[in-house]
Amino acid sequence: MNPFYEEYGDYLKERFGRKMQKLTVDTGASCPNRDGTLGRGGCVYCCNEAFSPMAGSRESVAAQLERGKGFFARKYPSMRYLAYFQSHTSTNAGADVFLQQVRQAMDVSGVAGIVVGTRPDCMPDDVLSELAHINRGHMPVLVEYGMESACDATLLRINRCHTHADTVDAVRRTAGAGIDCGVHLIFGLPGEDEAVMLAAVDAVNAMPVRFVKFHQLQILRGTALARNVEQGRESVRLFGLEEYVEFCCRVVGRVRAGIAIDRFTAQAPASMVIAPRWGLKNHEFRALLHRRLTELANSRS
Ligand code: SF4
Repeated sequence: MNPFYEEYGDYLKERFGRKMQKLTVDTGASCPNRDGTLGRGGCVYCCNEAFSPMAGSRESVAAQLERGKGFFARKYPSMRYLAYFQSHTSTNAGADVFLQQVRQAMDVSGVAGIVVGTRPDCMPDDVLSELAHINRGHMPVLVEYGMESACDATLLRINRCHTHADTVDAVRRTAGAGIDCGVHLIFGLPGEDEAVMLAAVDAVNAMPVRFVKFHQLQILRGTALARNVEQGRESVRLFGLEEYVEFCCRVVGRVRAGIAIDRFTAQAPASMVIAPRWGLKNHEFRALLHRRLTELANSRS
């Protein structure tokens, strides 16, 4: 058991009674911030291929899950899976299409839960009410929203095309429907200093969320952010590794009890990352963080 914070893996173990493996699926849905509904350029840092290994897949949801299971099922025959609707904006295809894809995932043997990742402005009431029905009577459903920042000026600057009020509304409606939900935050966004980032953690604490996922801003090849920085239209102050470890120690001390932490770092393929190039896997960063948290605890005792 982690003495410093509740780990997302432990939350899942408690919720499902066993270790669970997430399998990412791509529904083929577009993103309203790219298809013209809200915008065309997308969020400035977005490179969907980097966020999701299955992005761009045109296989059915069931076929993607069967393929994903292949690797684990041989090694761990009793493994159970979470179908993770992560890529683009999974709920953007419309309620009928999306819910049919969810039902398809539920029918795949070994799938014991559904995780929906989406934008906070893309959870209509009809989808939410059906997810709540599944969660109550069939299998657990978890929802993750891309909050990214609690500061509207930042959300505008990174072209998110939603506000913090949208996040608060989505989280409240989702938790109110009895579904465990979480949010993602990015640390190091343009214009944000430590006070703004910690205020975002406070904003997370103030919402009825059950889990949170943090990551450092990465500048990825081919993104608007990379072009803007290169052409001098945007400036970012990226975290150094040691500095980020220290910052995450302060974040850990700030996250309220009852919120499990999923991760602290993003891990895009190295070939896509312009900066920062730490060359660390998530578990290696976690080991560094735990070593530092232990040092700090020892120095206080
Ligand atoms: S980060 Fe998400 S919301 Fe933003 S453009 Fe990419 S897919 Fe769309």
